[in-house]
Amino acid sequence: MFERIAAKMKVLVINAGSSSVKYYLYQMPGAEVLARGLVEKIGEETSALSHYYHGKIHTITSKVKDVQKAIELILQTLADKEVGALQQISEIGAVGHRVVHGGEEFTDSVIINEKVIASIKKFADLAPLHNPPNLDGILAAQHHLPNVKQVACFDTAFHSTIPKVAYMYALPYELYEKYGIRRYGFHGISHRYVARRAAAIMGKGKYDINAITCHLGNGCSVTAVKEGESIDTSMGLTPLEGVPMGTRSGDLDPAILFYLAGKGYDVNELNTLCNKQSGLLGLSGISNDMRNLQECARKGDARAKLAIDVFCYRIKKYVGAYAAVLDTVDAVVFTGGIGENSVFMREKICNSVTQIGVQLDLTKNKDAVAKEAEINTKDSKVKVFVIPTNEQAAIANDTYKLANGKQPIVSKQNPSGNIAQEHMETLHGRKG
Ligand code: AMP
Repeated sequence: MFERIAAKMKVLVINAGSSSVKYYLYQMPGAEVLARGLVEKIGEETSALSHYYHGKIHTITSKVKDVQKAIELILQTLADKEVGALQQISEIGAVGHRVVHGGEEFTDSVIINEKVIASIKKFADLAPLHNPPNLDGILAAQHHLPNVKQVACFDTAFHSTIPKVAYMYALPYELYEKYGIRRYGFHGISHRYVARRAAAIMGKGKYDINAITCHLGNGCSVTAVKEGESIDTSMGLTPLEGVPMGTRSGDLDPAILFYLAGKGYDVNELNTLCNKQSGLLGLSGISNDMRNLQECARKGDARAKLAIDVFCYRIKKYVGAYAAVLDTVDAVVFTGGIGENSVFMREKICNSVTQIGVQLDLTKNKDAVAKEAEINTKDSKVKVFVIPTNEQAAIANDTYKLANGKQPIVSKQNPSGNIAQEHMETLHGRKG
């Protein structure tokens, strides 16, 4: 089946945020990175593009006004005579965009048309910081590449299989009907990718695995994956819910907000407090960066230690809860900047969840930094994996398939599901 869509194509992946745009140019199939880079500090005087091509970095420092200008600069650089990977931008066969919120409408990645654009705009209400710059990236790419298929890959799509019992909040039902207030979940592209990889490493089919996937970066979320599908996840209506993160509080008693409102905080201040001033930063008063906190805790800083302890404790609670939700757990997977790199945090978390059958091999854990590895002991009932996430390759895959007239997957219900597994195997050069 895969051979039918094995035509060569260059796919550009764009992840447009409000202050930065990341990009990857892939040769498909096989997801070979031809060039990559990012534009940072958009809107500031000191904006800069860093472009990586053939092992070299090329930097341009000049003010980039907005996302549209950033895309223009990226396309110019990709077709630059000296540092570009393309002769001309018309060599780009398709563009894949990361879009944070797809509401209830998108259960898969989709080819972008007017209706999709209208929906992304509509869901900006639920993701005001993310969907508008995502959309700016789409519109700019459409402007420069009008005849090229553009694909939207949603962070929410993998979680579209979460059952109602897990996505409903115990609020008046009308709020769900009127405003769409429910759990949507995020980081779905990453959770899907690492769950599929874990299944492949274990020699299982992608719908044969029960896993708890822990995406621990500056944003953090934990997902319960049952038979290959997301059935619960820690983030909710927005990416604020769940475990504490770099600067986000995660779960808290909503009455805290009413109490603070009574003390004179307005909505914007509460929003900033919970999203920007809480989490590891708020607890430690030092940093949102786990490396700094580990260093400070080693030197005896009590608040840094507290922040780390709270972080681990809350992850432990989610892992325990999801073990109960799943009945049986085949694997716990760590990904994201902390999950992929922090030997210390993985040890601390794994040692706190031994009751679900996790037994960490300390030596394997120590050796597993920023690389795919199995880090459990031989006798461990539950496998433990470190799997560096590769959201951009997953987006490139979906984009390539859709641009070739195939449906990517999210759920078992999708009859074209096998293609994705085949493609993941091609990506990693092995059969799972
Ligand atoms: P991400 O958002 O996925 O890029 O992850 C960022 C987080 O990963 C930050 O909190 C970093 O401090 C953390 N991180 C990256 N490398 C390490 C490391 N070697 N040890 C501990 N934390 C790390």
